[in-house]
Amino acid sequence: MADDIVPEMLAAIEKDFKRRYAADDVIQEALKMIEAGNSTYKLAYAHAEQTGRVLARVLQDHLSSDVLPNGRMYPNIAERILAPMLVNNQDLIARATANVQTDLNRAAGLGIRGIEPPLNQDRVDGLIKGISQAEKYDDVAWKLDEPVVNFSESVVDDTVRENADFHTEAGLSPKIIRTSVGNCCDWCNEVAGTHEYEDVSDTGNDVFRRHAHCRCTVEYDPGDGSKRQNVHTKRVSGSNEDRDMRIRQAQRWEENDKVEREKRKQARMERLEGGKNKLTPEQRAFIVDLEYSPDKLAEYTPEQLKAKFESLGFEVKPLGRGDLKNIPFESGGGYRINYGGDSYLQYHPDEGSHHGEAYYKFSDGRRGRRRHNLDGSKKED
Ligand SMILES: [Zn+2]
Repeated sequence: MADDIVPEMLAAIEKDFKRRYAADDVIQEALKMIEAGNSTYKLAYAHAEQTGRVLARVLQDHLSSDVLPNGRMYPNIAERILAPMLVNNQDLIARATANVQTDLNRAAGLGIRGIEPPLNQDRVDGLIKGISQAEKYDDVAWKLDEPVVNFSESVVDDTVRENADFHTEAGLSPKIIRTSVGNCCDWCNEVAGTHEYEDVSDTGNDVFRRHAHCRCTVEYDPGDGSKRQNVHTKRVSGSNEDRDMRIRQAQRWEENDKVEREKRKQARMERLEGGKNKLTPEQRAFIVDLEYSPDKLAEYTPEQLKAKFESLGFEVKPLGRGDLKNIPFESGGGYRINYGGDSYLQYHPDEGSHHGEAYYKFSDGRRGRRRHNLDGSKKED
């Protein structure tokens, strides 16, 4: 019997994929933005699509009838090469997308981590079957092109479904927003729109399906009015151990999140301790608390917050740019405080705001810009 070609082939494919994934601008940019907490499902789709493309490219480059025994991708070869690579894509995409969901959850005031969907084994099996049935690999090589991208994007769809499902169990009423990207096609235009998750949660619902070359997005943001009741008022179905387990897991994560946030807050306090523009302990405590619990913005009117800053000894200045540049708060302008060298908090009033309504904006070197509504909730750009 001939040497087993699979281990070497798989190793070369894995290595090449890793290299191209790490060198891909779109992927790395998306991951960086997700990491920074500027998360949206758009980024998750961008990351997924490109991860799919990279894998498709690598498979096209490494596989051909020339290098396969009898020019054919036998099932046992397909199983040992495609399955691990698809699972790897699943893991990368599920992780990044769950991070996006974690951010959206946090912005909506839910201390629940985004969860990763299970592998859709049927899809993996389908791809393997499609490729290994043909006599000649080259005739079906296209099945490892667009279908691999499609598989990769569907991991994001699955993540949306998984989290919406979970939040429904936790007592929320998630809304799913499907957007037809680039006026995709009649079928997609038909399923586009905002749907109550409970109405579209049945297995195989069209809202969660995508045809070849479809780049439509399916999103779930718990901050869009889905938060009907407090997450602590849980409807735990005693009959379903899996759900119980997930709810317990969520409670642990909620605890972890609190601990993590406390740690980050502490580290931020320490970073702000030194530096040129030294803050007083009271200033530091107040501003860092606002940074990490922006919901506390709701406790002040903009005017009260300004007075609070002034009483703490911050220098409160008019905005430095835009239509409201140098216009005092008392004359309808906004205000800002600068601190810590690279950080500021600004208040932008209604008028002249390019973002619809009055809002606050935090910015610092590490976490970038975050806009909040006056009630502290995260503001969409
Ligand atoms: Zn579409």
